[in-house]
This record gives sequence, structure tokens and C-alpha cells, in this order.
Amino acid sequence: MLRVERARSLAACNTLALESRTRAFLRADSADSIAAALDWARSEGLAVLPLGGGSNIVLAGDVDALVLQVRTRGRELLREEGDSIILRVQAGESWHALVQWCLRRGYHGLENLALIPGTVGAAPIQNIGAYGVELERFVSAVHGVFLDDGRPFTFSASQCAFGYRDSVFKHSLRDACLLTAVDLHLHRSARVELAYPTLQHHLQQQGVRAPGPREVFDAVVAIRSARLPDPAREPNAGSFFKNPVVPRELAQRLASDHPDLPVYPAGPGQAKLPAAWLIERCGWKGRRRDGVGVHPAHALVLVNYGDNSGAALLALAGEIQASVAGHFGIALDIEPRIYGGGYD
Ligand code: FAD
Ligand code: NAP
Repeated sequence: MLRVERARSLAACNTLALESRTRAFLRADSADSIAAALDWARSEGLAVLPLGGGSNIVLAGDVDALVLQVRTRGRELLREEGDSIILRVQAGESWHALVQWCLRRGYHGLENLALIPGTVGAAPIQNIGAYGVELERFVSAVHGVFLDDGRPFTFSASQCAFGYRDSVFKHSLRDACLLTAVDLHLHRSARVELAYPTLQHHLQQQGVRAPGPREVFDAVVAIRSARLPDPAREPNAGSFFKNPVVPRELAQRLASDHPDLPVYPAGPGQAKLPAAWLIERCGWKGRRRDGVGVHPAHALVLVNYGDNSGAALLALAGEIQASVAGHFGIALDIEPRIYGGGYD
């Protein structure tokens, strides 16, 4: 028996706490309930929007779809061969709880990705990344179903076409599938990734000489807790803009005009610039109006201070984009996916 909720508010289902209503809403905690929900949406002629923790979406208006919140649970050790561990994790599992669980069991690799909000099923969509590590390093396969007919599929990591905060699920398979589980390839041996300067600096300051996975996990949790605003108190969606990847010559030109502009290598002929630096230089850090604003400590984070409207937030984002384009000639892309208000 499906418990369809109609005209349901999504305010409690997104970390920006934006007000929006959806035509229909269902929770799915099993493969059968996902299949039944897809059948129901088809019979009603409704599109399906898979939802996890709502930490990477902006609701710009009401959503004309069935919002299907994925709550499936399960972590299974598929294989252990020598140093290699292959896990299958169901899509509705909390990402951070998985990182903690792996650490306790001695399944190593995910430590730098601690404390990222949201679900396992959403993690491949933007190839989550932090502190010098991206999810793609660990994905051995992704399982899902096509939204139009419920057909199951399994993709290898290369079929997912992962990139910087990017995957095939944002391009040719956008709005086409629901991910049901992710297979991860982890290791028994500790292979810590310490290249990210903030992480290195923190560990040095703590006097940690030879950090293992536990120390890296603790450091990432400490840095993030001190630095990033908690959505429960200051509703936000993490980084609102992606760091722009630009031709290296353009980055060098900008850096000669602005010697304090950090420039990071990003593949052949390319460079990555910190969007937060560009936004701060344009004077946006800490600016607040119409119940929305730019966080005073973190220029990449836009906050809903009480307006609760995606339109006000996106108007602010548009002004920031225009200002960065005007000052530096660089287009900033919005990272979270926008739904409603004519955007989808
Ligand atoms: P949702 O917001 O629910 O969904 C995001 C998108 O994925 C939507 O398009 C949705 O339709 C789709 N989706 C969700 N579940 C499924 C599924 N099962 N199948 C198919 N599609 C699905 N991101 C980083 O990469 N690195 C960070 O360090 C980071 N830090 C953050 C810090 C804060 C405070 C916040 C609020 C966000 C941060 N994010 C970060 C962004 C966000 O946490 C990630 O993108 C996360 O993977 C989103 O998970 P979610 O379950 O909340 O997805
Ligand atoms: P930060 O350490 O202040 O650094 C600012 C930006 O510079 C980061 O976004 C990072 O890019 C880039 N950077 C720094 N050192 C780098 C290096 N050695 N090589 C390449 N790029 C480098 O960043 P922060 O805002 O506090 O966030 C810390 C980490 O958590 C970052 O990895 C960030 O992506 C991640 N995070 C992501 C979100 C999100 O919603 N997507 C939210 C919060 C934090 P990268 O972003 O490519 O790492």
C-alpha cells in the first residue's frame, strides 16, 4: 500500500530549508517500494525526482513531480582478497555514517570524505570530493534503475564518466535514473592522502607525526566543524558555486594582476581558481539582504537567513555571478541542482 502524500512541503527535506511544495511525495525503503513508486508515477504521468538528504538542491518553486526519498539501508562485504575490500552499500545509507563504520572496521580510504552530508546514492551524482580526494577513486560499480521503465543497470566507474563535481548523471543520464547501490573498493592497509595543505597544516599543528586513517578522519572532522556553517543553524547547501576550471594562460594573466590569487593545477593546460577568493574580492563576503546572504566566514556558502525563498537566493547568486564575470571575466557555475520555478 503506497502512502502517497500530495502537495507536501519540502521545507524539512532540504538543508537550505527553502519552502516548496511537491505534487506527490513517497519514501522508499526497499527495491520493491522503489518499483511500486515508479509504476505509480508512470500511471499518474508524473516525473520522478529521487531525493536523498536534500543537501545539494535549491528549490526555486513548487516541484511538479513525485519526489521519491530513498531510504534503503544495507552495507555488505562482497569480497575480501588480500588487501582489497569490496563493499556494496545501499543508496539510502548516510554517507558520513558509512565513513565512520568503515573506519571502525579497518576498511580504509574514505577518511578525507568525512562529514559530507547526504546519502550514498547521491554521492556519485557529483562525485563528491574534499581535502584532495574524490569518490571516483573508490567506486567499482554503481547500480540503479531507469526511471522510465524500472529496468535495472550496473555501470562501471568508467561508464560513470566522473569528473570534478561531475558525472554522466549530470549529462546524458540527467533525470534518467535512480541509483540503488554503490560498490566501493577500499583497502585493509592504510593509504592516507595528506597532500591538501589545510589538512597537513592541521596535523602539524596537532603534533601528529605519522598520521593514520583515524588521525586523518579526526582532522577532517575538526577542520570542517570549525570552518563550515551547520545547516541546522544556518541553512545552506555547502559550496554554492563550483571552483572555475579555466585555461592556464587566463589563470596566469589574472595572477599577474592579482599576485595573491591562488592557482591550482587542474589537468593539461588547465587551472582551478578558488571561487571563494573571487567572490570575496568582489565584496560579497558577509553581505546579507532580503533574508538571504553570503556567510561572513565562508564566501562560497549562501545562507537562507529566513526568507525561505529559492527565488531570493537565486537572485543573490545571479548578482554574484554577474559581479565576478564583470571583475574577472569568469563565469561561476552553481553547484547544487535547481528544481521548481521553471528551472527543471
Ligand atoms: P540530494 O541533495 O538529496 O540530491 C542531490 C542530487 O542528487 C539531486 O539531483 C537528486 O535528484 C540526486 N539524487 C539523490 N539521491 C539519488 C539517487 N539515489 N539516485 C539518483 N539521483 C539521486 N559536496 C562535496 O562534494 N564535498 C563536500 O565537502 C561537501 N560538503 C558539504 C557541506 C555542507 C554543509 C553541505 C550542506 C553540503 C556539502 N556538499 C559537499 C554537497 C552535498 O552534501 C553532496 O553533494 C551530497 O552528495 C548530496 O547528498 P544528498 O543525499 O543530500 O543529495
Ligand atoms: P579551502 O581549504 O579553503 O580551499 C579553497 C578551495 O581551494 C577549495 O575549494 C579547494 O578546491 C581549493 N584548493 C585548496 N588547496 C588545494 C590544492 N592543494 N589543490 C587543489 N585545490 C585546492 O576549502 P574549504 O571551502 O574549507 O573546503 C575544504 C574542502 O571541503 C574542499 O575540498 C572543498 O571542496 C570541500 N567542501 C565542499 C563543499 C561542497 O558543497 N561541494 C562544501 C564544503 C567543503 P576543491 O574544492 O577542489 O577541493
